[in-house]
Amino acid sequence: MACDCIEVLDRALGPKGRAVDARQIYDLDTGTPLGYVIPIKTTVVHRKRGRHAYDMLPVYCPLCGVRYAQEVATP
Ligand SMILES: [Zn+2]
Repeated sequence: MACDCIEVLDRALGPKGRAVDARQIYDLDTGTPLGYVIPIKTTVVHRKRGRHAYDMLPVYCPLCGVRYAQEVATP
């Protein structure tokens, strides 16, 4: 990936039995793994039947601002 924030955080959190909730992303055309990103989590504010929270995959690292792989931004 473009930065090593996830690895740095995992090394720091590891001794405490924690890890970053990262998601692996793939090239949709080839199925090749591109790396991991830190998802932006959402929550349902007004609870209503059928509404679910979802995660968004950022184009830029939310910790350091470095752009992730170009393939992440293009559908
Ligand atoms: Zn980063």
